Amino acid sequence: MAKQVSQLLDILNRANPAKRVLAAHTTDRGLAEAPHYPLLALVGQVEMKLALVLNLINPLIGGVLLMGPRGTGKTTAVRGLIDLLPTVPRSTCPNGNGCEPEAVFAQGMDAICPACAEKLGRGEPITMPDPMRLIELPLNARLDDVIGGISARVALEQNRVHLEQGLLSQADQNVLYIDEVNLLDEPLVDAILDAAAQGQYTVRRGPLAATYRSRLVLIGTMNPEEGVLRPQIQDRFGLRVVVRGLTKEADRLAIYHRSQAYRSNSYALAIDWLEETRAAAQEIGEARERLPKVELPHKVERVGLRWIRDLKIDSHRTEMALFEAARAYAAASADSPDSRVLVSEQDLRAIAPLALRQRQSSFMHEYFVQHEVEERRIRRVMQAKGQ
Ligand SMILES: [Zn+2]
Repeated sequence: MAKQVSQLLDILNRANPAKRVLAAHTTDRGLAEAPHYPLLALVGQVEMKLALVLNLINPLIGGVLLMGPRGTGKTTAVRGLIDLLPTVPRSTCPNGNGCEPEAVFAQGMDAICPACAEKLGRGEPITMPDPMRLIELPLNARLDDVIGGISARVALEQNRVHLEQGLLSQADQNVLYIDEVNLLDEPLVDAILDAAAQGQYTVRRGPLAATYRSRLVLIGTMNPEEGVLRPQIQDRFGLRVVVRGLTKEADRLAIYHRSQAYRSNSYALAIDWLEETRAAAQEIGEARERLPKVELPHKVERVGLRWIRDLKIDSHRTEMALFEAARAYAAASADSPDSRVLVSEQDLRAIAPLALRQRQSSFMHEYFVQHEVEERRIRRVMQAKGQ
């Protein structure tokens, strides 16, 4: 059965012809509430939009790194996600323990607090649907701000030691955006990447320790002109997009006109794109619901594994990013709401460059070649007859 291109992919792929900006009647509501530039109003940059949206559909992809010079719309695109963020089940635990039904399935009733256990026993929900949020890491963030630490305020006011939650714990089931990730202190980047990879992290300060959830969609942007990212960090983002300025005159003019429209009346531009934005948000929600029914046939897995082998990529994170992105893409392209969805080779091809690029490490390649040479020498020496 031929798959139809879904509405979501159609919206993302659309050439976005210049639209007439409606003369909307808006009252001045102050700067704080000014709408964001709609993601879908970005001209071109289909790969960037796709990579961002796939991560909203399937957080297992492992985030996305956008690499490119200034002024190519990276930050605008990330902030434009705000209007597309799906809802997630968020704990309503009255004790702030973050109790969730999944914990009960995995570990039994002892995994949640008595208040939540009682609620579950009465058949009442202990989570409620809540939109994901976009949290931006402040440029001057310190390690204690991010992972949490001993509260100086509580120590001063109440003369006791108290562990305060960091920004990472607020990023649970949310999107964490790190601008200029290549300029961040190494311990900070390592802490965030570890927490994102494991979905939880532990803060230890002397005798105190606390563990928090950190299931987050990590989005990083960087300008390679301002310093490279360590290869081992680059590998830890599921997808990588190289964002370049557009070259066609018509596209550049469209960008100029649209930016100008946004500057002169951001409400009008947002209203102009409201219909597409709402449709895309709904499609993302539906794709998330479909995702558990999306299966990866073995023959498609084998195609992906062959590409990874032929490209000599070592990192096992590659399979997770490649296959989970393909599942998200298939979930987005499926046209039937309920039935089982099989990932096709075309689905895999559509997203493969995002997952495969910039994962090879020439250093590691050389290192392993040297290692193999030495191994062979060792075996030869061991096999040689004694004289
Ligand atoms: Zn609870």
